[in-house]
Amino acid sequence: MVAGVDKTEKKEIVMPDYEIYALKYAGPFVRTGAHLMWYQDWDKFETINYYIWCIKGAGQTVIVDAGVTPELAKKRELDGYVSPVEVLSRINVRAAEVRHVVITHMHFDHANGVSLFPAATFYIQEDEYRFWVRDPVATRPPFKEVSDADSTAHLTALEDTARLVLLNGDQQIMPGIQCLLAPGHTVGLQALAVNTAKGTAILGSDCAHVFRNYREDWPSSLIVDLVGWMKTYEKLRARVSSLDLLFPGHDRRMLEDYPEVAKDVTKLL
Ligand SMILES: [Zn+2]
Repeated sequence: MVAGVDKTEKKEIVMPDYEIYALKYAGPFVRTGAHLMWYQDWDKFETINYYIWCIKGAGQTVIVDAGVTPELAKKRELDGYVSPVEVLSRINVRAAEVRHVVITHMHFDHANGVSLFPAATFYIQEDEYRFWVRDPVATRPPFKEVSDADSTAHLTALEDTARLVLLNGDQQIMPGIQCLLAPGHTVGLQALAVNTAKGTAILGSDCAHVFRNYREDWPSSLIVDLVGWMKTYEKLRARVSSLDLLFPGHDRRMLEDYPEVAKDVTKLL
């Protein structure tokens, strides 16, 4: 810096554009239409997959959701399972070195694999975390079915360390990547708004299970708060640059309709 030069001119902040990858780690699984489209399609069937996502750009790698460990996959007999560690290695991401993992919600298929990321900081909405860790309702049968004691214990052990960040509402975690509180499917699910070359994309996770939920303004069957879901949908729709940039949690089309960059890995953007 040259002495005496006035540096008050405004520096333009350049938002990085990120790339987004979908990584299938289990499936396909057959579901009834009514599972994916609330109270419709009782006589129809559709296949879904289990995914994690990878956001890359500006020298950063952010993983969205942690998948399932080989141990739980075996216990739950998940068809087509490949460890998220293996799938990530196909795009040159080492799980052991990942620094940022956003947990969208604490259902087993999204959170169980936290132990696969020993160097990561985990970002979770505080409402979501408190529900699964503290609320006795979370131990009742319908919730117990989709919860996961392993990841809850793992995360609880990280409380009060820098590796667990509990978010309150919408919060930017790095330039161009913002967590959005998006309840409905669970108490405190969060989506991610991501800056991309095509505009703002949203990884909505299980806010919707398939693209049709958003396109037809119709939820899936797994909803704890239907009014909350409708409001969340309005919020995400207002925020995303176009509806085709709003991604669901389990649609098989994320694997089938986008360019494959490695086995079971597609580039969404
Ligand atoms: Zn899910």
